[in-house]
Amino acid sequence: MNLELQDKVILVSGGAAGIGSAIVTAAAREGAIPIIIDRNEETARALAKNLRAEGLRCEVVLLELKTADDCRLAVEDALRLHAKIDALVNNAGVNDGVGLEHGNPERFQQSVHSNLMHYYALAHYALPALKLTSGSIVNIASKVALTGQGNTSGYAAAKGAALALTREWAVELLPFGIRVNAVLPAEVMTPLYRHWISTFPEPEAKLKSIERSIPLGHRMTTPEEIASTVIFLLSPRSSHTTGQFLHVDGGYAHLDRAL
Ligand code: NAP
Repeated sequence: MNLELQDKVILVSGGAAGIGSAIVTAAAREGAIPIIIDRNEETARALAKNLRAEGLRCEVVLLELKTADDCRLAVEDALRLHAKIDALVNNAGVNDGVGLEHGNPERFQQSVHSNLMHYYALAHYALPALKLTSGSIVNIASKVALTGQGNTSGYAAAKGAALALTREWAVELLPFGIRVNAVLPAEVMTPLYRHWISTFPEPEAKLKSIERSIPLGHRMTTPEEIASTVIFLLSPRSSHTTGQFLHVDGGYAHLDRAL
């Protein structure tokens, strides 16, 4: 299937690693022009270099998305590179373990801010350009928004808000033909996940027990499987899909995990 993404400019926050890098790679392979927005210079530049070596296109905007101004600059830099935006993937995020009992209100606020604010601000600053292209937005949320995880109140609140904003923006942007959807990963092996699993006393045993609880295939979802769904949602092939939450998780959130 031709996804009709040729020459489409796609901004991907956190595009240097993990799920973001798989989205960037999939977009480039469809002939699109992904723009990585990330704070990791080495990984961002290496990914762009590898894709260019394959004859594909990819740009890098190096930034830590901390403030609204960072987000404005990221969008301005992207527009300087290609003068249009066809799609935005809000993906950067960190499950930073700020719990109810073992956190505090200041750390909670900081966690919500660092996981959520840039979702809003990137969409806000990209909106004038997205209106010109009747573009598309995908928000990467998490199963944590629906299942909880324990000890991660800030992240859970931010991911829940990402789902709420998906529906809210889908409605607000109807007049412009801009579609907004969310993808909810559950268990995907990425640098972030590897770090999280390493915090357990027996990481390998913990990983095995998680894999056993994933209904389809008793295995982790790959970043590429998340990317395929995201790319489809960004493409005109999903032209009547908006305000949707797509779980790409081997049935983790909805099927019986005691199988
Ligand atoms: P990852 O492996 O950490 O990759 C994310 C990339 O984004 C990293 O390069 C990271 O830099 C960068 N980044 C994070 N916050 C940033 C910021 N404020 N400004 C600039 N760059 C930033 O993460 P991932 O596992 O691919 O996760 C991607 C998204 O999927 C996140 O929103 C996460 O919550 C969601 N998710 C993942 C899973 C999973 O199983 N992996 C499950 C559910 C949801 P650093 O390395 O410096 O942090």
